[in-house]
Amino acid sequence: MSRIAYVNGRYLPLSQATIGIEDRGYMFADGVYEVCVVKNKRIIDEGRHMSRLARSLNELRIRWPMAPSALGVVMRETIRRNRVSNGVVYVQITRGAGPRNHAFPPDTVSPSAVVVARPIDREQVERVASEGIAVITTPDNRWERVDIKSVSLLPNVLAKQAAKEAGAAEAWFVDKAGHVTEGASSNAWIVTEDGVLVTRTADSGILRGVTRQVVLDLIRREGITFEERSFTVSEAQAAREAFISSAGNLVMPVVRINGRAIGEGKPGPLSLKLRQLFFTQADASPLAWTPGAIAHEPDLSDKEGNFHF
Ligand code: PLP
Repeated sequence: MSRIAYVNGRYLPLSQATIGIEDRGYMFADGVYEVCVVKNKRIIDEGRHMSRLARSLNELRIRWPMAPSALGVVMRETIRRNRVSNGVVYVQITRGAGPRNHAFPPDTVSPSAVVVARPIDREQVERVASEGIAVITTPDNRWERVDIKSVSLLPNVLAKQAAKEAGAAEAWFVDKAGHVTEGASSNAWIVTEDGVLVTRTADSGILRGVTRQVVLDLIRREGITFEERSFTVSEAQAAREAFISSAGNLVMPVVRINGRAIGEGKPGPLSLKLRQLFFTQADASPLAWTPGAIAHEPDLSDKEGNFHF
């Protein structure tokens, strides 16, 4: 079955799905994206992803290519046409195409929208989760607006490649003070020797992961001891457990950091419990989201509390 992509108003086989070479996403990485998990044909945490997309677009002053609810319809249709039951749906919106010029194009230029969906081999991911992954650390040399989910990901690409070459699955960025910020495509967590779950605050130097937010909700619900603060690489290496969170990996145990075994060198019980809890709550997640519901989610609005739809 040939894969189908949505590109600027049309559903096309991937081989015919093209964007103009003057698209600003291609020229300047002038665009934003979202990746959502699809479980049993349902988009998980759609409202939170839409809220973050609204915020990213707003911060970069990129217009919505269509009403957010219409984008939800396109996402579902792309999932359906690709017969994805379990996988991910990817949405990318750029400032559109025009003669190469750094400043914004005129308002007559429409933003570009692309949606693709693909299945994920969940059994394979579960096998990886049962063994845990290795991470390396690398200096955080990204810009200061990593809270925006921009397609400008070159430092993340280089960090991930360095991890791969070192036999690891993820790279953790480390800021100038020696604190872990986040992974190249995930948020970073540890469970200290005293059993306290720790992750960095979302207001400094990280992307506010949707999975991170869901894990925070689960932690509160379960009454797990928790601190939102920075931690160093050596604290992480001395931790009882570590894990990463992202839509693609959900809660993924980390068993080695820079070659040093974490805890007993195998996935920790709390990491595995949170992974399981994530699955349970995903099944209970609402079937669809309504823009009204998002506007009342104060956690994810921009500084002025505005949503632009
Ligand atoms: N941090 C970065 C840099 C990411 O790229 C991602 C996901 O792609 C995350 C964190 C996790 O975010 P989410 O849980 O919304 O997938």
